[in-house]
Amino acid sequence: MKIMKFGGTSVGKPERMEQVAKLITLDKEPKIVVLSALSGTTNALVAIGEALAKGDKQHTKQIIDALEAHYHVFIKDLLKNEATLKKGEAIITEHFDFLNIILKISFNEALNKDILAQGELMSTKIFSVYLEEKNIDHALLPALDFMQIDVNDEPYFDAIRVKLNRILHQHPDTKLFVTQGYICRNSKGEVDNLKRGGSDYTASLIAAAVNASVCEIWTDIDGMHNNDPRIVNKTKPIVQLSFDEAAELAYFGAKILHPTCIWPAQQEKVPVKLLNTMQPEAPGTTIMQEAGSVGVKAVAAKDGIIAIKIKSSRMLLAYGFLRKIFEVFEKYKTPIDMVTTSEVAVSVTIDNDAHLEQILKELEPFGTVVIDKDQTIVSIVGNQIAQTPDVLSKLFDSLSQVPVRMVSYGGSSHNISVLVPSAYKIQTLQLLNKGVFGLD
Ligand code: ASP
Ligand code: MG
Repeated sequence: MKIMKFGGTSVGKPERMEQVAKLITLDKEPKIVVLSALSGTTNALVAIGEALAKGDKQHTKQIIDALEAHYHVFIKDLLKNEATLKKGEAIITEHFDFLNIILKISFNEALNKDILAQGELMSTKIFSVYLEEKNIDHALLPALDFMQIDVNDEPYFDAIRVKLNRILHQHPDTKLFVTQGYICRNSKGEVDNLKRGGSDYTASLIAAAVNASVCEIWTDIDGMHNNDPRIVNKTKPIVQLSFDEAAELAYFGAKILHPTCIWPAQQEKVPVKLLNTMQPEAPGTTIMQEAGSVGVKAVAAKDGIIAIKIKSSRMLLAYGFLRKIFEVFEKYKTPIDMVTTSEVAVSVTIDNDAHLEQILKELEPFGTVVIDKDQTIVSIVGNQIAQTPDVLSKLFDSLSQVPVRMVSYGGSSHNISVLVPSAYKIQTLQLLNKGVFGLD
């Protein structure tokens, strides 16, 4: 069984949806196809929820009508025969009837989740009608029947596995399933979701639940690249990454894969492939247990970082000092990303400033607290890079002109991170592309 997930842009135009139908019928392996909403739809649904929450019914109605018009044009282009077009129209009418009814009821969070679910519900149903028109045998799997989150809004994996496999056993002859990404039920049984970009997570959870041979994530880029193509001229796709390397990269801003989505596939050792719908023959990036090769693979950057330095002579030879400091961050549920220490000072970084003021106040008794805002973590990711000769010298040679604020080395064998002022981010990525990867 293989999982193939297609993002919003891969289903966002009728001709792209046709391409998806071709890609999923290229081989005979049984499949579960996970679809996002058509591109732009979830953003529109978010806007509908926001307008409704403000009580602006007129604006809400405008967005609903514009979205509906878009869907009518879409299916007229996609569906060529009268009977299937009628079915397509009926699907759109059903979902937009719902969106119009919400104008008459008062806004609440559960209703908002229902609104957000409409995108994936429509994309999968429309795609299913298209497959029907093409005489492609398949079954639509309602994600709301098996995808579940617990009281902490985390996937309830055991329940997902049991429910999904039970449903699959009810279709012993079906080789092709289509289901919704992103949407799920919460612990109260209400419609909910896996947060923005969550379709990758759906795919990874399904892949783990059925022990798939592969989890393919189809987008419009040919895999993860060694550097940010928007910032440096020459980048190259990374052929193979370990799960650990991919997790580091995903966190550090490689937008192509949703950061939290990796663990289910990793847990069940299902390889994840990042592939390009526009260039299906390109190898893309495979993420699996093994790293494939030793050495530096990529750099990635994360903006919006705040560095906090706590300096105190009481730290000298003291124990328990770090724990007390970390407890402050724990109290405010603020994750720490980088940590460096000297005998009399400790610097940490955070990317969430929601409780910054309270945190600073509680840190004051420990010593002098200094903060630097607008920082960027630039992370060099690879396999056993700590043991790879020359990485450190190339790194520091490349960055001799950059005011590096922190360095984190040795925390894991596949990551070296430096903190630089965000104003130096572009320069840093360009210098590393040349100095570490030899790419101009
Ligand atoms: N449609 C949802 C979003 O745009 C989920 C996804 O595409 O992954 O966030
Ligand atoms: Mg996405």
